[in-house]
Amino acid sequence: MRMTKNREQVYKEIINSSVPLTAYEVSERLKDMSLTTVYRALEYLHQSGYLKRFSLDNYTYYYSSSVHRHFFRCVKCGRLFPIDECHMDEYENYLSGHFKFKIQEHFVLFSGLCEECYKKEV
Ligand SMILES: [Zn+2]
Ligand SMILES: [Zn+2]
Repeated sequence: MRMTKNREQVYKEIINSSVPLTAYEVSERLKDMSLTTVYRALEYLHQSGYLKRFSLDNYTYYYSSSVHRHFFRCVKCGRLFPIDECHMDEYENYLSGHFKFKIQEHFVLFSGLCEECYKKEV
């Protein structure tokens, strides 16, 4: 893998962030880098397996593939929250047995109201 300076900077922004970031958010943090450069670096890092990504409401979010996390998204304020605990072993075992799947990974995204928004509602 060829880690150019740009790719390295983009990679650092992603791994230092607790929540997944869009290309735009990365470029906001790296003022001297164009959005196109950020896009290219993200694409490269994704193809090389360093980053994972998912799409939501037409935005693509990138996050480090080295840490396993689940996410929660508030439907009101749009914030993403990381969840470090994973309790999927039993469920995966069940699915493997029941459907004869060979599960390799999973991605979990919960949605609802965050504490702040929930408190405003009641
Ligand atoms: Zn919220
Ligand atoms: Zn998990």
